[in-house]
This record gives sequence, C-alpha cells and structure tokens, in this order.
Amino acid sequence: IFQLSLPLNFLGTIYRELRQNLLDMEVLFRIREENTPLQDKPDALPLALSRGTIRFENVSFGYHNDRPIFRNLSFAVPGGKKVAIVGPSGCGKSTVLRLLYRFYDPDSGKIYIDDQDIQEVQLKSLRRAIGVVPQETPLLHSDVMHNVRYGRLDASEEEVREAARKANVHDTVMRLPGGYATKVGERGLMISGGEKQRLAVARVLLKDPPILFFDEATSALDAHTEADLMRNINNLLRDQARTSIFIAHRLRTVVEADMIIVLKEGQVAEQGTHDELLQKGGLYHSMWYEQALAEDPTSI
Ligand code: ATP
Repeated sequence: IFQLSLPLNFLGTIYRELRQNLLDMEVLFRIREENTPLQDKPDALPLALSRGTIRFENVSFGYHNDRPIFRNLSFAVPGGKKVAIVGPSGCGKSTVLRLLYRFYDPDSGKIYIDDQDIQEVQLKSLRRAIGVVPQETPLLHSDVMHNVRYGRLDASEEEVREAARKANVHDTVMRLPGGYATKVGERGLMISGGEKQRLAVARVLLKDPPILFFDEATSALDAHTEADLMRNINNLLRDQARTSIFIAHRLRTVVEADMIIVLKEGQVAEQGTHDELLQKGGLYHSMWYEQALAEDPTSI
C-alpha cells in the first residue's frame, strides 16, 4: 500500500503546486486529465465559439467555506477586446482564471463563454479555447522544439519555427548550441526569463486560442525585460480580434486596455478605461498614484 500511495501522493503534490502557482497550465491539464479525468455531462457539447465573450454572473466562490473570495461577482468581457483585471493583492485576480479554466467551479452563479454555461460544455473544448501566457514558464526537460510544440502536438517543425519567429525567439534559438534540438528546462541549458517567456508566447501562438490570458508575475521585471515582454504581447495581438485578459500587478502595463476591471473584496469596485478611472478618483486612481510613487518618488 505504501508503495502504491507514494507516487499518487507525489502527483497530488505536483498538482497542488501547479494549481496554486498557475505555473504551466498545459502540463497541469495533462497530469489532471490522465489521473483524475473530470467527467463531462453526458449531453455536453463542444464549446461553440463566436466572438469570445466572457460573462461572470453572480459568481460566489471561496477556497474554504469560511473565507469567500467572490461574492456575487458579475462582469462581462466583450469579445475581441483587451481587458485588464487589477486590484489589491489577494483580491482574486488569478482566481478568475482558475474558475474560467474550471480548476474549480463556483459555489453559486454561472460563467458563460459566448452565452454557453462553461459547466455544460466539454471540458477539453473549453480549455482548447483558452491560452495562457504565464510569466514564469517552467520549461519541460526536453528540447526547444518539443517545448514550443507543446502548444499543439500535431504542429509541423516549420509551424513551430514560424511561431517562434512571430514570438521573436527564433534567432535566439538558432544561436543556442543545438538550435531547436537544445535541451532546456530542469537540468537543461539555462535560458533567461525573457527568453522563456518568448517561448511561452510561441507556444500559445501555435495553439492559436481565441481567448488569451496573460498572468503577470508579482515580481518586478527590469525595464528592458518588461519592454521586451510588452513587445511580444503586442506582436501576438496585432491585427487580431482576440479576447485577451491581463491579470495585472503593474498598472502601467494596462494603460492601453479597452477596459479595466478593478476588483475589491470579492466584487467589481469600478470599471472603465484608464482615463475614465483616473478621472473618477476612486480606487484605481489611488492605486495608480501609489504605484507611481513607489516606482519613482520624483514622478509626482
Ligand atoms: P496577487 O495579486 O497577490 O497575485 P490575486 O488577486 O491573484 O493575488 P488569488 O491568487 O486569486 O489573488 O487569491 C485570492 C485569495 O485566495 C488570496 O487570499 C489567496 O491567499 C487565497 N487562495 C488562493 N489559492 C488558494 C487555495 N488553493 N486555497 C486557499 N486559499 C487560496
């Protein structure tokens, strides 16, 4: 019994850690799907996407019964728009993504994509529709080719290279000792955070999902890496009517968003564009000046 339970516990630990950190959702799903397959409802249909509109309707949720994270949270993300979710640390920004991806289901309320209740559609089709660019991308211990191809396993080598070019990482890969055959990840060649992130963008480009999530890390990036990152993301979004959601800690990365949703105490405190929210003089306004002051005390 001991021998049997050990690997299962081990997987459980990996699962919890990954779930917690949102490190690499793709890896997580494979582990989860292989070990604890979530059953679709017998009559579940594949998600039928049109514009990629997302709607949270009266969603209440807590990881523990005694500590609600969301209380009747409602908001809508219009299809094809860039939306940022901001708010004080711990307000539940990453939890929005976890619920949308169905790591968890709400205690009450519904989440819709293009008017379909996500609990009623086939889980695989739901997850296929959503791409995540995490800030910290752990690479698989494998070669670069496989690490990018993970976005879509049936992609050809040329498609992988094309995705890498679009993500501005092809030339970097070509300079590695073994090119696309270079082993990276744990025990592999060390590559920089910015390069990893560009590989993650390439992976998502290959997957080509209609809904994109960018989960920004809390840790401050240096200005160069941040500019690099924003360039990659803008490349990814250029000329595309893709729904994209930015979970943002640094407000200056969301100034351009079509809409900013400010969460506080389990609900939407305010929403609007950067200019509208600054004018309003509410929570966003004070967060903005607080951050500006923290980053550069001479700026105000
Ligand atoms: P940050 O800005 O610090 O990244 P966030 O707004 O993304 O935070 P979440 O990660 O969504 O916040 O977490 C919301 C709250 O839920 C936090 O108080 C967090 O401690 C708690 N929490 C998150 N995951 C779990 C979990 N698996 N079990 C219990 N509590 C959790």
